[in-house]
Amino acid sequence: MSDRTFHILTFGCQMNVNDSDWLARALVARGFTEAPLGKARVNIVNTCSVRDKPEQKVYSVLGRIRQATRKLPDAFAVVGGCVAQQIGSGFFTRFPQVRLVFGGDGSSMAPQAIERLCAEPGLRVSLLDFSEEYPERDAQLDSGPVPPSAFVNIMQGCDNFCAYCIVPYTRGRQKSRAADAVVRECAELVDRGAKEITLLGQNVNSYGQDAEATRQATAAGDGKAVSFAELLHRVAALPGLARLRFVTPHPKDIAPEVIDAFGTLDNLCPRLHLPLQSGSDRILKAMGRKYDMARYMDIVHRLKAARPDIQLSTDIIVGFPGETEQDFEDTLAAMRAVGFAASFSFCYSDRPGTRAEMLPAKLDAAEKAARLARLQEWQNDYTEQCLRSMVGLHTMVLLDGMSRKPGMTTPELQEGVHEGVHDGVAGTPGGESWQGRDPYGQAVNVVMPPRTQGGPEGWLGRIVPVTIVEAKKHSLRGVLRA
Ligand code: SF4
Repeated sequence: MSDRTFHILTFGCQMNVNDSDWLARALVARGFTEAPLGKARVNIVNTCSVRDKPEQKVYSVLGRIRQATRKLPDAFAVVGGCVAQQIGSGFFTRFPQVRLVFGGDGSSMAPQAIERLCAEPGLRVSLLDFSEEYPERDAQLDSGPVPPSAFVNIMQGCDNFCAYCIVPYTRGRQKSRAADAVVRECAELVDRGAKEITLLGQNVNSYGQDAEATRQATAAGDGKAVSFAELLHRVAALPGLARLRFVTPHPKDIAPEVIDAFGTLDNLCPRLHLPLQSGSDRILKAMGRKYDMARYMDIVHRLKAARPDIQLSTDIIVGFPGETEQDFEDTLAAMRAVGFAASFSFCYSDRPGTRAEMLPAKLDAAEKAARLARLQEWQNDYTEQCLRSMVGLHTMVLLDGMSRKPGMTTPELQEGVHEGVHDGVAGTPGGESWQGRDPYGQAVNVVMPPRTQGGPEGWLGRIVPVTIVEAKKHSLRGVLRA
């Protein structure tokens, strides 16, 4: 066993995936190499609190790691992310193999800490303090190839305290990253081969509206902080950037200038994930979302006016405390009215310490499951309909990897576990079935000429003209246009 091998297991949202990717690159830059679970010395679990029973899931993964590394006496575990922030050094007592815990703000120091742990066997480290400033990462630690679709953090934390959400407690208060640092990282990624950039934050629409942004503006001698719309324009103007996306926008904070950007910025993709959560004004109020359906539909209409072909996706929580059958019907009606191309829907479950945990009138599990099934049945039908309507269209597909087998798709921006593999290309050498995304973010599989004809990198990162010829359940199949 090499002394400097690591393996990362990632749970949760795209921000966690992005943090893990950065950590992997930073460790590689420090001379570490990736290894499979059971062979790696450093076993990192990047955790998420959003789903049900997050602690139990982490405990079970740590049990798996302990089992897999029982013959490796130097092996140890690292727990990062939201559950690490909540449980903290409690992990040290329960799992002796855990030697580092780090939260969102501590991730920037994790590579140095891991290096120390490798050199000092008795040491344990916890990086759990929230910092007042955005925890900028050391760009020197970030090297190696970049994927065609890259992600760039623009903020950390959230100030909204939605009734059901643990994020403000685990990621801390909102801190915007300096606009110059965001634009610089985007420019470097484009220089190194990225074609598409997704700007990431818990609530990107409130970028620039926090104490950290004010402090930066004052320090720079600027009159006011850079707004999200201004940041979008600055990033979109980078030469060579073919596609720009962002996630996640909160409807209450979306500015008219951000909506207008969909009509004026050619490389801003016509797809927006706009979390609705419920179609009932009564439930939205109980959730503390600070918008109602009239406001949400007004945003939808203005987005469609700015960019008529825009596709929307959303998040829905089914069975929030007190949700009646009529509230749920209102949600279904809202989904039909907007016509979401996709949605991520979950049954409500308590998160300890949140306001919703204290609310009465909790629904029973069977009722929540039945409502969720109804909602997902509608969504599946509608998504298939959307995909079928795209057959025959000419589009451009950004190829991001070889399919493991013809017709295989990549997952959506969805919760789940993401394990290992940071090299960007999957599949067998010489295979000809590639996967990619169209401007709407739809997964498209396309058969390409032999890989060697795509140059030394194969077809990775090429944007190719495709005609859609078939719609599958969650993806499209296209043929290369001459
Ligand atoms: S906006 Fe609401 S749901 Fe989203 S991270 Fe902040 S508190 Fe959580």
